[in-house]
Amino acid sequence: MNEDVFDCVIVGAGIVGSCAALALISAGLRVAVIEACPLIANPSPAARVLALNTRSVTLLDDLGVWKDLYSEANIIEHLQVSRRGHFTAVRIGANECHVPFLGYVVLADRLLAALYRVLFDRLPQSHLQLIYPACLETLVRCDLGWKLDCVSNDRKQRTLYARLLIAADGTFSKVRELVGISTKILTCDRTALVSRVRFTVNAARSCVYQRFTDRGVLAILPFSANEAGLIWTGKSACVTPLAECSADIFLKEIQDYFGYRLGRFEQVTERLLQPLQTRYARQQVQKNLVLLGNAAHTLSPLAAQGLNLGLHDLAQFIQILTELCDSKSAIASLHDQDSGWLMRYAEARRRQQRCLLQFTEQLENLLSFNFWPLNLVRALALFTLDSVLPCKRRFAHAFMGFA
Ligand SMILES: Cc1cc2nc3c(=O)[nH]c(=O)nc-3n(C[C@H](O)[C@H](O)[C@H](O)COP(=O)(O)OP(=O)(O)OC[C@H]3O[C@@H](n4cnc5c(N)ncnc54)[C@H](O)[C@@H]3O)c2cc1C
Repeated sequence: MNEDVFDCVIVGAGIVGSCAALALISAGLRVAVIEACPLIANPSPAARVLALNTRSVTLLDDLGVWKDLYSEANIIEHLQVSRRGHFTAVRIGANECHVPFLGYVVLADRLLAALYRVLFDRLPQSHLQLIYPACLETLVRCDLGWKLDCVSNDRKQRTLYARLLIAADGTFSKVRELVGISTKILTCDRTALVSRVRFTVNAARSCVYQRFTDRGVLAILPFSANEAGLIWTGKSACVTPLAECSADIFLKEIQDYFGYRLGRFEQVTERLLQPLQTRYARQQVQKNLVLLGNAAHTLSPLAAQGLNLGLHDLAQFIQILTELCDSKSAIASLHDQDSGWLMRYAEARRRQQRCLLQFTEQLENLLSFNFWPLNLVRALALFTLDSVLPCKRRFAHAFMGFA
């Protein structure tokens, strides 16, 4: 067999690409992963946290990754949404939704490290090649499917052939650009300030907070008894100065904006700024090609759903692939014109993707403007959400990825 021919080549070994690789080798396929960075997830004191819903955790468990993470994940039992200057706060409990918990908070670098560990463990018994650090450079269609050229850091070029190509190369996907799929940008001029804070109240088995302020949305996600990930999302002009002031001033600002629900904020790590965009690809599948994760859609972190949606897409993609008589023949059938199963996948995911995009956009629009008639609507919306159980359940379901 030609060493450079694969059932599937995945471009990008972020969380979604790595999960895709694990799922596909478990289905017995010959897989190559091309990743631009070294496959080391260095623990960083400023690394961000991720809120994972139960569906994402089920996928990670099926892939053998969750057992490494479980002991350090913090259970989310409540979700609190409030606006500074309003008495109304929506507090949604897992018990109101008849579930034991709403999800988990994990450190993103620990999740990536656990994924890489499992990928390297599986290398000897699987048909997997990890090609890194190397960048995809060119891409053309061929009889088999795709011919790809990638170049490593030391400028060595390698050519690969793939029956199926998975673009998991993030928001600014090179694959998407090379195949000419355009994106629709819904919002830009947003920045996230990402950091971690230490506080005095014990927050184990905790609540995730979202506080809407005149400077954007402050999300606090406790990941241990006294530490939380902090994400302040807003217009760049509002958020950037918060990264430039001294740590003491920043601590005073968050205390003032957030209040004392978690006691006193005592310490903050390095504050990183990350430009944000909400965008989606106008096409997510083509013959022998599928876009997954941020390459397919990048959501605002407001509803903490970007990765959850990407993993849910992947779970459904794998389910459709393995439901076909056997996955090898599904991929081989891509030789023919019939890429019906890829279309079936895109169709199956369309509704939930649209709902979540709309949900995060509406959340941002309804709650982030400071204009008095809107403030009234907003207070009413929060009041309705808090007092009407079906509304709360709907909100919680969206958070849990069941939109
Ligand atoms: C501040 C913030 C907070 C968030 N919080 C949450 C949350 O709580 N819950 C949640 O569900 N989601 C959250 N998200 C969204 C989530 O982080 C992303 O949806 C997720 O990380 C996307 O993963 P990915 O694997 O698709 O893409 P990426 O993580 O971007 O990975 C893409 C990979 O492709 C590689 N690559 C790129 N180009 C090439 C190339 N040409 N050749 C080879 N390799 C290439 C890159 O090096 C990278 O490793 C948050 C996002 C932000 C910004």
